[in-house]
Amino acid sequence: MEIINGKTLAQEIREKLKIECDELKIKGIKPKLAVIMVGEDKASKVYVKNKSKACNEIGIEFEEHLLSADITQDELISLIKKLNTDSTIHGILLQSPIPKNLDINEAFRTITPEKDVDGFNPINVGKLCLNQDTFVSCTPYGIMKMFEKYNIDLEGKDVVIIGRSNIVGKPLIQCCLNKNATVTVCHSKTKNLKEHTKNADVLIVAIGKPKFVTEDMVKENAVIIDVGINRGEDGKLTGDVDFENVSKKASYITPVPGGVGPMTIAMLMNNVIKASSN
Ligand code: NDP
Repeated sequence: MEIINGKTLAQEIREKLKIECDELKIKGIKPKLAVIMVGEDKASKVYVKNKSKACNEIGIEFEEHLLSADITQDELISLIKKLNTDSTIHGILLQSPIPKNLDINEAFRTITPEKDVDGFNPINVGKLCLNQDTFVSCTPYGIMKMFEKYNIDLEGKDVVIIGRSNIVGKPLIQCCLNKNATVTVCHSKTKNLKEHTKNADVLIVAIGKPKFVTEDMVKENAVIIDVGINRGEDGKLTGDVDFENVSKKASYITPVPGGVGPMTIAMLMNNVIKASSN
């Protein structure tokens, strides 16, 4: 069994990006990411802080727009439009969640596809479906980079994804299909979940339920990717997989923390550099 070390791989990627960022600066391009956060979500604040730290380390400029929770839809949309036309900004990220009265789909649609470093604009989602060059959303992209680094070839493999969110599960379907895997997607209405998971050569879990996947649910020598981040009352992070027991059966497994999480931020940085180079 090998532990897939997302922290080390993310660091390697960030070091390469720093060199690319320096090269862009020599050409007179100063990569810059604008992040919009609406309201005071505690977890979002931590994510935004980590993104800002990563930008700083690589040399990407970071512009934060902290909006109050009572902002109107029109105000949010006009800020996005302003950032779209600001030529000093290369990437725009709207941190979710945003207050429920606001229409996040319209907001994602408004971010111009060329600056949509999170890959949530329907045009970029469509390009991913068509296997065209685009901004792939950062968590699925990070997972694909892990497969690449560890020489895990998905061709012909049975990949089972648990979770069908727009930001993780759905783009992962396309990413794995594009690598010629046979993909099954499970969700809360799936019957006999275990029958599916036991069949998986590669099992990717993104549901947000601590230690949900147990040893009896996985096939011998399966590759296990744990996307879940669950914070306990003691502040400790746990994944969606019972790591201690499942790791005994797996051929490869990602830990939490130190697995998918750091890769997500590294791929965001990758997308900002890509947007700045275009
Ligand atoms: P969502 O809550 O948006 O989606 C959860 C998905 O899990 C849904 O599709 C839901 O099904 C499915 N699900 C819930 N319960 C079950 C169940 N008992 N059996 C089968 N399927 C179930 O979550 P996200 O995709 O946003 O996030 C998932 C987890 O990944 C969270 O812990 C989140 O914190 C973490 N995360 C980690 C990231 C990282 O960088 N490591 C990045 C993004 C998320 P249905 O559609 O039917 O409701």
